[in-house]
Amino acid sequence: MDETAEYLCPHCGESIQIVVDASAGAEQDYVEDCPVCCNPNTLKVSFDREGNADVWVGDR
Ligand SMILES: [Zn+2]
Repeated sequence: MDETAEYLCPHCGESIQIVVDASAGAEQDYVEDCPVCCNPNTLKVSFDREGNADVWVGDR
């Protein structure tokens, strides 16, 4: 089941919407280039009990 989540890019300040996949694990982190400014962001994703995604940018 795909779900969308949003994070704020620390480089350009834009709100970025991504598709997250809960079947890949309750805690995920991966690097994704910002579609607006093309800088890499280390994204942390976690899912709560209801399967709602929380996304934020972790430390580089
Ligand atoms: Zn950006």
